[in-house]
Amino acid sequence: MNFEFNEEQKIYRETVRKFAERHLAEEAVKRAHSDSYPWGVAGLLAKNGLLGITIAEEDGGQGGSLMDAVIAIEEIALACPRSADVVHAGNFGPIRTFAEYASSEQRKRFLPELLAGRKLIALGMSEPEAGSAVTDLRTTATADGDGFRLNGSKVFSTNSNEAELFLLYVRFGPGLDGIGSVLVERGTPGFTLGKPSRFMGGDLWCQLYLEDCYVPVENVLLRAGSFKKQIGAFNAERIGNSSRALAVGRHAYEVARKYAAARKQFGRELCEFQGIQWKFADMALKLEAAQLLLYRAAANATHGLPSTYETAVAKVFCNRAGFEVANEALQVMGGIGFSEESIVQYCVRRTRGWMIAGGTVEMMLNRIAENIFDRRFSQRPPKLAS
Ligand SMILES: Cc1cc2nc3c(=O)[nH]c(=O)nc-3n(C[C@H](O)[C@H](O)[C@H](O)COP(=O)(O)OP(=O)(O)OC[C@H]3O[C@@H](n4cnc5c(N)ncnc54)[C@H](O)[C@@H]3O)c2cc1C
Repeated sequence: MNFEFNEEQKIYRETVRKFAERHLAEEAVKRAHSDSYPWGVAGLLAKNGLLGITIAEEDGGQGGSLMDAVIAIEEIALACPRSADVVHAGNFGPIRTFAEYASSEQRKRFLPELLAGRKLIALGMSEPEAGSAVTDLRTTATADGDGFRLNGSKVFSTNSNEAELFLLYVRFGPGLDGIGSVLVERGTPGFTLGKPSRFMGGDLWCQLYLEDCYVPVENVLLRAGSFKKQIGAFNAERIGNSSRALAVGRHAYEVARKYAAARKQFGRELCEFQGIQWKFADMALKLEAAQLLLYRAAANATHGLPSTYETAVAKVFCNRAGFEVANEALQVMGGIGFSEESIVQYCVRRTRGWMIAGGTVEMMLNRIAENIFDRRFSQRPPKLAS
């Protein structure tokens, strides 16, 4: 057991930290309040090897580990929370599932632009009638000549308003074994986007509509029967979600820590009040405990994919810690923390969303309970005896 990073990891962390402080910290508040995806940051991160960290070098990535990607997202978020979205999109999101399972032809076709930070891929898994119960998804892919016709709708896809490529979970047939996934490009006839809606975190999403949308067989990512494979890769997305939640909570904590050391009330600094000191001690406990669980899941990842149990434990703890710490940091900062001028209120709003995105905290607790009792608990109503 060793709780220390190795020399290479320490140097990597230091390098990313300096890069983030020099290039990203200054405009952090401005970026947090901007509607558009930070394309300038995406180009900059791509040039500096911060996209495709875990993707193989022969595919244009960096050939690094999941832990390297976690270190990168932590350091970028500490300087600029909104820029950490770019690290997420370029390393943990649907790009990770794509890189894991795409054919070499699909990699050649799509990865260069994604890894250059010029295009985005969005994930369409959730549907109006299939959220936590994702296997209830209804979007169909029906064989038609050399391809498939898609019909259905998707909701809540992160970055959908600006993405060029969409990785969509579809149903090739009935039941769990009927689920697979396809790639659909923006502009494909029969594929339309609804008007943008805004998450509480500030980012926009559009409902996706598929009406007899034709995709050739070359656009199939995973055939029917691949749901478990897809969810396996999705655990990497959950590590990204956990890292970002924790790192954005830590960002708020750092802002509040500096504020409490400088702000005076009753003729003394806030940090001299024991009530404030205990808040920080509790915040630090949450951050440290969450970080250990996150590192365990990332460090134990074999072939870059973490275990379902360790991921679920890390996600619940990081989601809660990130949100609770950001919320307490806001409290320490009083009125200014609640104002737009401060990035801390943005951190509260963003960390709240990750308790829902990527599998809700409750669904993660269900996974943990199954591990505890070593049995599967169906969430479906019991079947009535005939
Ligand atoms: C910021 C954000 C980004 C997102 N990005 C994407 C994306 O990129 N792509 C995508 O496809 N989706 C995305 N989503 C959607 C997300 O995956 C879903 O919101 C999530 O899976 C929950 O589904 P739902 O909203 O339909 O809630 P529901 O499933 O209707 O759940 C409502 C409530 O009931 C609880 N609940 C449901 N079932 C159970 C159960 N069995 N046991 C205990 N509690 C239960 C849930 O935990 C939740 O609290 C995003 C969501 C957010 C908030």
